[in-house]
Order: sequence, then structure tokens, then C-alpha cells
Amino acid sequence: MSFADLGLSEELLRAVGDTGYTDPTPIQASAIPSVLMMRDIIGVAQTGTGKTASFVLPMIDILAHGRARALMPRSLILEPTRELAAQVAENFEIYGKYHKLSMALLIGGVQMGDQVKALEKGVDVLIATPGRLMDLFGRGKILLNGCSMLVIDEADRMLDMGFIPDIEEICTKLPKQRQTLLFSATMPPPIKKLADKFLSNPKTIEV
Ligand code: AMP
Repeated sequence: MSFADLGLSEELLRAVGDTGYTDPTPIQASAIPSVLMMRDIIGVAQTGTGKTASFVLPMIDILAHGRARALMPRSLILEPTRELAAQVAENFEIYGKYHKLSMALLIGGVQMGDQVKALEKGVDVLIATPGRLMDLFGRGKILLNGCSMLVIDEADRMLDMGFIPDIEEICTKLPKQRQTLLFSATMPPPIKKLADKFLSNPKTIEV
């Protein structure tokens, strides 16, 4: 199986080619075609399996058309830590180099001013840690009802860090009609429960 077999656009294949990666990893080969078909996904995968590209690549193609409106991000990726959020942002820069998607990073420990400015301009991809997202939501600086794609990454780490109530609240603020992708290295009962509640007929991929 090569990247060209997954249904990705020419621009994305070019960006992947520029990285030097020749073949998709198992999670990429299973997840990418299903995400492009708009299915919900549970990806049981550790870091190091290539899981980031398994959602970043199809998201870029899905979001390639359409325009973001002020305060209404079109997609949301939740990460447990600033470092992981920054890594995902880096992946969007690398794979999205031939696209014109706008991205914002909402993480704690940095001034809110620039983050609010970015939201006001409109963002296609919002990458956030739950705490800062809830904070800005509470201040009315962000609306989640235009967000048709949600990624909950590293769900078991979110659980360890006590973020599940925040994630549940965030999920209820998103439109019901959306695509949801959940990634976790393990599937403890609270994560299964979360998936049951907020994903619709998901395809489970274990690598
Ligand atoms: P991740 O599991 O997303 O943290 O990715 C782990 C590492 O694998 C990162 O350094 C990626 O850049 C790299 N990677 C992602 N996809 C591939 C691929 N198809 N072939 C080789 N390396 C990859």
C-alpha cells in the first residue's frame, strides 16, 4: 500500500513526498480512507505509530474547501499538553504547505491576546488544550457550533490529567452533526464510555 492509494489529493501527496516518507504506517493505511469517507474513528495507537498524520492528512483535504468565520473554528483538535498541541501544529505546517488553511493554537501559559486575534480572523483548524479552550469559551471569545470535525487525541492521558469533564462539556457544545476521531493508547472504561456517548458508529482501528 502506498500513500497514493489512500484517496488523498495531489497537493497532499506532494507534501508527504517532500517529507521523504514513502509508505503509510498501518494506522495511516486504515484510518485515512475511512476519515475521508467521513466516518467516526477510534484509533487505539501509541505515539510513534504515525497516528498524528492519520488524522492531520485527511483533515487537510476535508477542510481544503470552505471558509472560516470569525470566532467559529471549523475543526477542533484537543490535546492534553502544550507540547503535544505544538507538535500537531507542526504537522499541519508540514503537510499543509500547499494549502491555505488557517490554524490557531490555544494553549495555557501564553498571553491570550494573539490567540483571540487569531480566532477573530477565523480559523480552519483549532488545536487546543481543554483548560485554555474552556477559559476562552467562558469569555465568549469562541463559538463551537461551526465545528464539524473533532479530534480527541491521547484520550487516556486526558483521563489521567482529569480533563474528561471538560471534554464532555466541550462535546456538548459542538454540533451533533459532526465527525469525531478519538485516539488513545489504551481503552480504559471511562474512555470507552466517552466514545459510546460522543462517537457515532465508529470504526475501531487497533495497531
Ligand atoms: P506520531 O505517532 O504521529 O507521533 O509519529 C511518530 C513519528 O513518525 C513522527 O516523527 C512522524 O514524523 C513519523 N512518521 C509519520 N508518518 C510516517 C510514515 N508514513 N513513514 C515514516 N515515518 C512517519
